[in-house]
Amino acid sequence: MSFAPVRIGFFTTRLRFTLQLFLILWVVFIGFVVVVSQFIKYQMKNDEISDIGMRLSKYLKVNPISALSFDSSGRRGETGGLQGLAFIRLVRNGEQILLAESSSELVDFQKLAALDWKVSGVWISLNDPKHHGIWTIVSKTLTGGINIQAGKESRKSADLYNRILSLCRWAVACGGLLALGLALFCIKMGVSPVKKIHSDISAILDDGHAGMLLPEDREPVLVDLYSQFNRLLKQNRQLVSEMQASLDNVAHDLRTPMTRLRAVAEYGLQEDTDMQRLKDALSDCLEESERVLSMLGIMMSVAEAESGTMHLQREPVDLAASLADIVLLYEYVAEEKKIEIVTRLQENLLVDADRTRMAQVWANLLDNCIKYGKEGGMVEISSESDGDEVIVVFADNGIGISANEIHRIWDRLYRGDRSRSQPGLGLGLNYVKAVVEAHGGTVGVDSALQKGTRFTVRLGLSV
Ligand code: ADP
Repeated sequence: MSFAPVRIGFFTTRLRFTLQLFLILWVVFIGFVVVVSQFIKYQMKNDEISDIGMRLSKYLKVNPISALSFDSSGRRGETGGLQGLAFIRLVRNGEQILLAESSSELVDFQKLAALDWKVSGVWISLNDPKHHGIWTIVSKTLTGGINIQAGKESRKSADLYNRILSLCRWAVACGGLLALGLALFCIKMGVSPVKKIHSDISAILDDGHAGMLLPEDREPVLVDLYSQFNRLLKQNRQLVSEMQASLDNVAHDLRTPMTRLRAVAEYGLQEDTDMQRLKDALSDCLEESERVLSMLGIMMSVAEAESGTMHLQREPVDLAASLADIVLLYEYVAEEKKIEIVTRLQENLLVDADRTRMAQVWANLLDNCIKYGKEGGMVEISSESDGDEVIVVFADNGIGISANEIHRIWDRLYRGDRSRSQPGLGLGLNYVKAVVEAHGGTVGVDSALQKGTRFTVRLGLSV
């Protein structure tokens, strides 16, 4: 394992996440500041506008419009009495009156006279705000087609708002730092379990895959993950040990015939061997090599079935005859164990199957029923049609299979704990399942410990 690239990859990922989180937090913060500043501005504007409205009504109460005469010069100075407004402008049919505090130097009459009478808003300045004031202006249309525009000096509000804005700019800068700190903290917190997992797994690897992760002293978020990982470790170890065991079995099963073959060959090669002994030795050699070849054949068939490349030579097969042939083949083995084989086979059922492979399926199932059946017990084989299917059952009253083993019996190279005293490679049921499924059928099992086991095969009837 290359350590450095892992570290670099880890570092860049962390950096990327930190930057992303930082940007998200900062943008959210900026958005918040903008909303707050706009809200303050809106409030200030509303306050100013309602204040102007109030002052204007007061003024009009004291000075009714009818008392004002419009003249073409369009401007007039006013001393006091504008209720604190900077100016009032009345426009009717192109004529206008401009009223302003005569003390106010900020009102530029020329500019004001040219101002569109519809202008209404906050903090408008005509020309240079330093010299011509910053006003809040409100425009209204009165009865009689007179448009009225009133302005109030708003420098204080504008200055206050500008101070708030510069405060917001500082807040945005500080918020950036805060967001960066928060992002670093969050990523550190988020990454720390991954680092722990990394170091814990490294410890197991350094330990030669021997240990387990200890979920107990870890935070809750890791406990579940560690348990799952431990399950995986356990399964892997079990698989490796099973493969080891089956490799031992294969080696053992191969060694016996090979040793015998060698002994027979040596015997045949002795100097004083006559022709008859030589022939016997050669025929024994053939027999042993046949055994080895068939064993290797099964293993290769299983591999073929597992990789999906099994080639089937299908033809209509008489089910009852095919089963009866196998029963005949195993009669002698069953007799040795005093097991009675009972058959209930429905006649004239044809399946579209590979004759040889189907015979191997029946042989495997019957072989298991006898191998794991009880001495003096019974094996029942039945076949019957069920709609467009046939059901073949192999049932024994032997040792049975425990509930925690039953789902594993189909696995390649799996051998039950209590079956090790019997010869076998743990390939039989795996092969059965592969062949039945290659024929489009299914195979299932029911079992109870010390009561017996029942295998059910379903295949499509030949049409
Ligand atoms: P093998 O018989 O070589 O061990 P199989 O693949 O045929 O391998 O079977 C897998 C396991 O299933 C067996 O080791 C045994 O534990 C269990 N088994 C299969 N058939 C029977 C049966 N009829 N009764 C009890 N256990 C069985």
